[in-house]
This record gives sequence, structure tokens and C-alpha cells, in this order.
Amino acid sequence: MSDTILVINAGSSSIKFYLYDIDDKHELAPRLGGQLEGIGTTHPRLRVRDAAGETLVERDIAPSHAPDVPNAQEVVGTWLSGHLGGAPLAVGHRVVHGGPDLSEPVLIDDDILARLETFTPLAPLHQPNNLAPIRVIRERRPWIPQVACFDTAFHRSHSDVADRYALPERLYLVGVRRYGFHGLSYEYIAQRLKQTLPDIAMGKIVVAHLGSGVSACVMHQGKSVDSTMGFTALEGLPMGTRPGRLDPGVVLWMMEQGMSHDEIEHMLYHDCGMKGLSGISNDMRELLASNAPSAKLALKYFAWRVAEGMVGLGCATNGIDGIVFTAGVGENSAEIRQAISEHWGWLGIKLDPERNARHGPRISTDDSRIGVYVVRTNEELVIAQHTLALVRQR
Ligand code: ADP
Repeated sequence: MSDTILVINAGSSSIKFYLYDIDDKHELAPRLGGQLEGIGTTHPRLRVRDAAGETLVERDIAPSHAPDVPNAQEVVGTWLSGHLGGAPLAVGHRVVHGGPDLSEPVLIDDDILARLETFTPLAPLHQPNNLAPIRVIRERRPWIPQVACFDTAFHRSHSDVADRYALPERLYLVGVRRYGFHGLSYEYIAQRLKQTLPDIAMGKIVVAHLGSGVSACVMHQGKSVDSTMGFTALEGLPMGTRPGRLDPGVVLWMMEQGMSHDEIEHMLYHDCGMKGLSGISNDMRELLASNAPSAKLALKYFAWRVAEGMVGLGCATNGIDGIVFTAGVGENSAEIRQAISEHWGWLGIKLDPERNARHGPRISTDDSRIGVYVVRTNEELVIAQHTLALVRQR
């Protein structure tokens, strides 16, 4: 049996995990991917598929075995050790927040774990869930090296200006900064562009990660220059259940109406965006299939604000050499890419309907002033690569 790298991406209600084989040339090959979803509900369920998409396991888990992320991690760990007949060489984790300074993945020790815990107030809904499996593995299988890979790290190349809001300096000094997120996805795209589109890879590229969460990043020479997301994953473009741009006065108004902090937080993270606007769903497929005027309104809003946010990033780089769509919506919906690009006609950007329907890689016409592309993201692979690299260094 070859050595393996395990990648874990833990959220509040699900743990996603991916296992990679390490071959003789130290290359990574996906072996399986799975998720335990419904954590803390009456119907937790474990699903695992091999690299060819064949189901390895699909079964209900007793709610008492997965009431929270730490217990759910034990279920995943037990299944994996049974399946593997051993332990992985190392585990890489997606950790949303690396704070203002961590610009690279790190091997986890007690000091690092304590430091990552101090970032919990910056990402209260995500950071504790990301850290819970790390703690479980450290307690139960302390000999396994673990690596934390941060969504914020890729954006630590931002300038002082991009890192700021127009707020008093003292807020900046205590951490109110524009951290930016989806960095693992952007890092993968930067890497992939060097392999597949070397002519533009070092240029000024706007990448739109359109998934459940939505953001865009402009990079130059493969490094992030600016991002639409800032202090939290709420800022910027409209998302499945988060609003994106919002006058902070709206939050003050909510407070004046008597809404508590938790009610406002729940609304901003779970009830806004496409779900709030349409009143139907956060899933773009459902909105595209719907004839309801509210679904059409939500899709129009999405296309307009995403288009605006993407080209706006070009101010940071004084130009755009290429545009890339990625993630669930960006990779799969020709209709939404078309709707976004219709706002760019005045810039001479044109999509080719056939290329767009084939999902690229190039989806713009030959005479489009800026080339537009679709590139599939792979955040898990970036985590596995970093984990292997750090373990080998050790
Ligand atoms: P996550 O951020 O959860 O990893 P993904 O990148 O997988 O999300 O994107 C999930 C979203 O992608 C879904 O909510 C769905 O709206 C959208 N999506 C997936 N396939 C399609 C499709 N064929 N057409 C439109 N939207 C799609």
C-alpha cells in the first residue's frame, strides 16, 4: 500500500474528506472523497466515493455518534482507518483564517493551534469547526503530522491600501483588515494557469470563484493584488445565502428594530443572497429552472453585481489581461457566465456561445478585447500538495 495524504474540510454541519495516494515520484493521485453531512441533525449520513465516482459507502449514522464536529471526526477517522488498514502519512486541513501574518501553510503544534484559536473572533462560524478535527486527531493519534492551509494566506501579498477600510488606524491595528478569502482556490487557479495558459498566467487576471460563497480576486504575476472579500466572508459579491455589498446602515437599522446579534448574524450568513432575494432557493440551478419573477430578479442582481465587482478589480492592476470563471456556478453555468458578460459589452468583451456552452477552456470570441476562460478549481489538491511538501521538509 502506498502512503496517503488525508485532506479535511470541516464545516458546521459537514466534514468533507479526500484521500490522495503518493506515488513513487512523490506525485499525488486522488483515491477517494467523502463527506459526513447532517452533523447535529437527526439524519447524519456518510458517503464515500472512489476516484472513478463509484460508491464505497453510503449509510446513515446514528445521531448520537455525530452530534457535533469532534464526534463526527471520530466516525470519519474510524471508517478511514478500517478502510486503509492504517493511518495516513499526514493530514492537511482547510482553515479559514490565518490572521494578518500567516501567508503560508504551517505544520501544527501546540503554539500554532493556540494562535489559530485567537483568530476565532474573526471567523466565529468557521474557525472553531475547522480546528475541531485538528484537536481530535492530536488527542487520539498524536503521531500523525497535521498541516493547516488558510483561505486568507494567498491574499497576504496585498498592499497596505488593499488591506484597509477607511476606518481609524486603531481598528486596523487590532485586526479590522481586509483579509480576503477563497485563497486556496485562487492559488490553485494561479498554478493551473501556468500549466495550461502560460501566455496569460503572469498577466493581470481577474478570477471569479462563483460557488455557494462568491468572491473575485485580481492577481498579477500569480500573486493576489485585491479581492472583493474583506474582513469576513460577507463582503463583496452576492452569494447563495450572504448578501455581499451592504450599507452598514442596514445593520444599524436591524439593531434599532431590536434584532439581537445572533439574529442579525444568522440572517446575514444564512437568509440573504440568492435565497433572500428570490425567496425560493440559494441553488442557482433551481433559480435558473424557475419562472418566478423573484428568481429572475435574483439572477439579474447576481449577474450585474458580479460583473461590476469583477471589472472593478481591474483598477487595482490598471488593466485586465484575462478573466477566469471557477467553482460550482462559474464552471457549470453557461447561462450565468453569459448574463454576467452582457454587462461588459462596452468593454469589448464578447463570449462565443458555442465555446461557452462547452465550458471552455476559452469561452470568449477571438476578437474579444479580453480573453475569458473557465478553469476548474481544486482546493483539496492544493492542501494535499502543501501537506506533502511540509512533511517532506520535516
Ligand atoms: P461550495 O462553495 O459549497 O464548494 P460549489 O463550488 O460546489 O460550492 O458551488 C455550489 C453551487 O454551484 C450550488 O449552490 C449551485 O447553485 C451551483 N451549481 C452547480 N452546478 C450548477 C449548474 N450546472 N448550473 C448552475 N449552478 C450550478
